[in-house]
Amino acid sequence: MNPTIILNVDDHAAGRYARGRLLRSAGYIVHDAASGLEALSKIEALSPALVLLDVNMPDISGLEVCRRIKTATARRIAVLQLSASAITTEDRVGGLDNGADGYLIEPVDPEVLLATVRALLRIRKAETDLELANSALAEANTKLTELNLSLTHSNEDLQRFAYLASHDLQEPLKTMSSYATLVQRRYRGKLDTQADEFLTHIQQGAIRMSDLIRGLLGYAEARQQHAAEWKRVNTEDVIAIALDNLERSVAKSRAVVTYGQLPAIRGDELQLTQLFQNIVSNSIKYQRPGEPPRIAINATEDADRLILFSVTDNGIGIAPAHHKQIFAPFRRLHGHEVPGSGIGLATCQRIVEGHGGKIWVESLGEGAGTTFWFSLPGA
Ligand code: ADP
Repeated sequence: MNPTIILNVDDHAAGRYARGRLLRSAGYIVHDAASGLEALSKIEALSPALVLLDVNMPDISGLEVCRRIKTATARRIAVLQLSASAITTEDRVGGLDNGADGYLIEPVDPEVLLATVRALLRIRKAETDLELANSALAEANTKLTELNLSLTHSNEDLQRFAYLASHDLQEPLKTMSSYATLVQRRYRGKLDTQADEFLTHIQQGAIRMSDLIRGLLGYAEARQQHAAEWKRVNTEDVIAIALDNLERSVAKSRAVVTYGQLPAIRGDELQLTQLFQNIVSNSIKYQRPGEPPRIAINATEDADRLILFSVTDNGIGIAPAHHKQIFAPFRRLHGHEVPGSGIGLATCQRIVEGHGGKIWVESLGEGAGTTFWFSLPGA
């Protein structure tokens, strides 16, 4: 630890000498100054931790020295003023108002002087530590802001890439798929026995890939939007559009979807349609064999002006161990026997979180049905 430097300022040699000796014996490095101006130049050169300052000096007063120390130096220097007993209360108040950290009146008991010096040095150290911690915090904050910005940029780049890649991949895939269909139509039964089967595999692969690309495109498009772009959305209209898009699978599975009057929400209508569509379509897809899907949509308003929706089905259920995983992109609990890309719920999560809400699932497990919960801003 650096030894503590104290500047001992007094125009009277006797007092200066006595105080210097006392402080040195307590282990401090003591420098003397016999006038205000000398004190100021030594403060500049020595950067003391504490200045012991006699108020009455011939050139400039201790009060003025104190004021200049406090305004001129960026470093924290503790100032302990000393004066004769004849000084008025106003002068003492003036000293403290000018920035002195402590004030003692002569004659001062040596023990009291040392204890006061120690207390002021402790305060100064605490203040310096606090300043250091504050500037480290400010630095960390600046770094965090920079990191955040670069993360936002790379996120946007990734999003652009996912969008372009999935968008541009669709064209060549369409070409491959239509030529496979053409070959199948024109040459069915005319090639060797396995050729028909191979062509069917090509077509099935193309359909799966197209599903994946469409899913990826939906995921990339479900980016966070600014709340300023949101509109009032009638929830029942959005569900009606979603059910219209799912018309064939609803009819085929004989699914019954029920909902009463639902509160309006705020957001991006296309994304919100996609959200309800993905969840209802899963409820249909993951139905219990031989049991038509029963799907109920409900909503309640919670304290933060968010609407909490639930979509409950009577399907195959999801084991609790998988409740978190199913929201990760491309995470599926089923093989190719059930069509899907594993990106539907990841997209739902993106849409909900982009609207400032949360999504989670509840299910007691196999055969117990599933409820998806999600919150969205109310209109
Ligand atoms: P997928 O394309 O596989 O349906 P999702 O992201 O939509 O992808 O869903 C992820 C997985 O979550 C599904 O593979 C399925 O196992 C499970 N899942 C989703 N919804 C339900 C549901 N309503 N009932 C049972 N399982 C579900």
